Amino acid sequence: MNFELSKEQKDIVSAAREFAQGEFPDRAEEFDRDETFDEALHKKAAELGFVGTFIKEEYGGLGMGLMEYCLIFEEFSAVDPGIAVAILISSYGAEIVQEFGSEEQKQRYLPPLASGEAVIGSAFTEPDAGSDLASATTTIAIRENDEYVINGSKMFITNGDRADYLICFVQTDPDNPDRHRRHSMIMVETDRDGFEASHLTGKLGIRASDTAELSFNNVRVPCSNLVGDLGNGFAEAMHLFNLDRVVVAAQAVGTARGALEESIQHVKKRIAFNAPLASFQSIQFKIADMFTWIQAGRNLVYEAAWRIDQGTIDHKLIAAAKSFCGQMAVKCTDMALQMHGGYGYLAEYKVQRLFRDAKITEIYEGTTEIEKIIMARNLLK
Ligand SMILES: Cc1cc2nc3c(=O)[nH]c(=O)nc-3n(C[C@H](O)[C@H](O)[C@H](O)COP(=O)(O)OP(=O)(O)OC[C@H]3O[C@@H](n4cnc5c(N)ncnc54)[C@H](O)[C@@H]3O)c2cc1C
Repeated sequence: MNFELSKEQKDIVSAAREFAQGEFPDRAEEFDRDETFDEALHKKAAELGFVGTFIKEEYGGLGMGLMEYCLIFEEFSAVDPGIAVAILISSYGAEIVQEFGSEEQKQRYLPPLASGEAVIGSAFTEPDAGSDLASATTTIAIRENDEYVINGSKMFITNGDRADYLICFVQTDPDNPDRHRRHSMIMVETDRDGFEASHLTGKLGIRASDTAELSFNNVRVPCSNLVGDLGNGFAEAMHLFNLDRVVVAAQAVGTARGALEESIQHVKKRIAFNAPLASFQSIQFKIADMFTWIQAGRNLVYEAAWRIDQGTIDHKLIAAAKSFCGQMAVKCTDMALQMHGGYGYLAEYKVQRLFRDAKITEIYEGTTEIEKIIMARNLLK
């Protein structure tokens, strides 16, 4: 057993840290305040090889593992989670194309994602279907000759208003008695007639990342846009979730680490009762607890990512990483804000942003409760 990152992994960490620390701080407050993002930053990150790192070399990527993706995500999130998501989740769904798509689809969709020329998103959630996708999804694709005609709506879709194409979870066989065989994944180019996206504003955190509500009104796509097998949509969704739950856990670790770093700086400088805050034991305990929880979370991320890279999907380990890290990030950012006192309550202080950014890691890609259900189901079966 070896707890050291390889030389190549350490180089990736240094490069990602240098890029994030050099590029994000000056823009983070503006993107958060205005709920906006600069595509030039995404392009620059892609040129440096940070985007779609898992895309295989023959499709323009670097063919790296989930571990490397998580290392970059932690580094970016420690500086700004919103920008991290805007840049790195620009390839959210490429995992499905790479695993289940036809050769023609891989050639068409993957290279522009790796180069940063295109953005993809994955649309599962609907206004009335979130945790229970298998039973509650109503968006439907009906086959007419050589086309699918899609009707319905999707909610909370990352990159929905920004993406060039979206891979969509739709019903194709609603009467199938097996609820896990009722759906398929279909690629929808966002310039198709009948497709509309409205950018959602007023999010609590990760405000640099675009989130949108989508509507499909008789959107026609060729049958060749079906990704993977008909009726296999649920399994394809689970493939993506298994990978990206670990990525979100890495996002949570980075967010918590950013909060710890801010706190250490603050408590050494801030004087109360004629002494730095750092000299008080209750502050020291918070710093020590945050370090321990972050390290524990990172170890879960590394093990889950490493096992996936070795070809093992351990559902309870993935769920443990996601649920522990999400809760840990919320707790650590809360403690960080507390250590900043009134200043932590101000928008100009990074801890306020991290406190708001942390919460999403408990919600998307499977809520904390859903992850616990997965763990319990696996442990008790
Ligand atoms: C910023 C943002 C970005 C997102 N990006 C995407 C995206 O790119 N693509 C996409 O498809 N979706 C996306 N989502 C949606 C996200 O995945 C869902 O919000 C999430 O899965 C929860 O679904 P829901 O909101 O419908 O909550 P619900 O399913 O209604 O759950 C509400 C609460 O009930 C709990 N609950 C539900 N069922 C159970 C149960 N059986 N037992 C115990 N508790 C339960 C949940 O844990 C939660 O606390 C995004 C959401 C946000 C906020």
